[in-house]
Amino acid sequence: MTEKARVRFAPSPTGALHIGGGHTALFNWLWARHTGGSFILRIEDTDRARSTKEFEDTIMSGLEWLGLDWDEGPDRGGSYGPYRQSERLDLYHDTADRLVKEGKAYREGDAVLFRVPPGIALRFDDVVYGSIEMMSDTLKDVVMIKSDGMPTYNYAVVVDDHFMEITHVIRGEDHISNTPKQLLLYDALEWERPAFGHLPMILGTDKKKLSKRQGATSVYEYRDMGYMPDSMFNFLALLGWSAGEENEIFSRNEAVEIFELSRVTKRPAVFDMDKLNFINQEHIRRMDPFDRLALVEPFWREMNLPVDAHSREYLASSLDVLAGRGQTAKQVAGYSDYFLSFEPVKERYDGSDVKKEQLPILRRFYGELFSLPEWKASDLETFTREWSEREGVKMKEIAMPFRMALTGMKVSPGIFEVAEQLGREESRRRIAHFGFTG
Ligand code: GLU
Repeated sequence: MTEKARVRFAPSPTGALHIGGGHTALFNWLWARHTGGSFILRIEDTDRARSTKEFEDTIMSGLEWLGLDWDEGPDRGGSYGPYRQSERLDLYHDTADRLVKEGKAYREGDAVLFRVPPGIALRFDDVVYGSIEMMSDTLKDVVMIKSDGMPTYNYAVVVDDHFMEITHVIRGEDHISNTPKQLLLYDALEWERPAFGHLPMILGTDKKKLSKRQGATSVYEYRDMGYMPDSMFNFLALLGWSAGEENEIFSRNEAVEIFELSRVTKRPAVFDMDKLNFINQEHIRRMDPFDRLALVEPFWREMNLPVDAHSREYLASSLDVLAGRGQTAKQVAGYSDYFLSFEPVKERYDGSDVKKEQLPILRRFYGELFSLPEWKASDLETFTREWSEREGVKMKEIAMPFRMALTGMKVSPGIFEVAEQLGREESRRRIAHFGFTG
């Protein structure tokens, strides 16, 4: 059994929760859960000018949306608040005083700087990148406390990771170059170093660093587009890590079970929307019908569809009829509007594609169809096939107007399933509206 890990996600509240941040948080969370350890949230708000409470809140709600719960922190009335560096200033000052006393650091006005000793090889074994080494001679003295009394990132991170007893520092690869400076501080303070694992960079499909230019970069934008947290979780987990070729769709619990930090690759990961869409579609398809309904419902309401005019059972089973069509909840809502109302059908279709000479055929066909004893998809289909053969009328000629009149769309799920779901009366009403019945 792997030792219990204590890991942390340490965002600076100077922006929203970006994909990169969500990815880092997720890998830390997975490692904590996999080892039965703890996941800690620490807000690194020492840049007073750029840090805001608003960003802090949006980062936390992004983590909550992804289901990345943290295990410690000040009591927030039933849940944990985050640790904040701005509330731990004494710790940084006391530790700095110690280094000054020991002659390892010095003051320059109100600032405190660490004196970098020359000729030291700073080496560590990165869990992902392997052995990394840097000579201390390349480093300038490290500012620990700035003249405004605030600690710098490289210094505060060491103090906190030590006192929070962090076992694994898992963060983005952009911090590799900071690590040697942090090693110096661990060694000077005679503190045990944690393990370090740097996560690969996330690139856009253009192979450039993921940026706003390529579309949504914050986690909530995906929520608002109708992606499910479980899919986003699944998708982010696959950036830089794989559970094996055949195992691309998994639940949170499955991911926790199989996650291995040592299997994270340093090869940059590509943020591929097609993959996210595929994963999301699979998650929607596998969902419990009523959970799926809860997901789609807000989008129907946004479209002003009469959600409350139908039973929950009817709405949930309508989505079952879609049988996995739609990659996002928003798309699913768009593909299923005709189950809730006839209005969008009328907007999309006017029946003018049916020629006058076709009408008598359609009227005869529908007359018989609507008098079938049972309104069931299989019966409707058998009857239609037999009728088309018997009367020498192509299937398409009678089925296409049927599809258009019921859904207003050229492409839909099996039209007989749709008819069964709408029911005999509603189907008749739609057909009659277009004048296809006698
Ligand atoms: N506040 C730093 C950042 O947001 C944390 C880096 C680290 O995890 O050490 O990049």
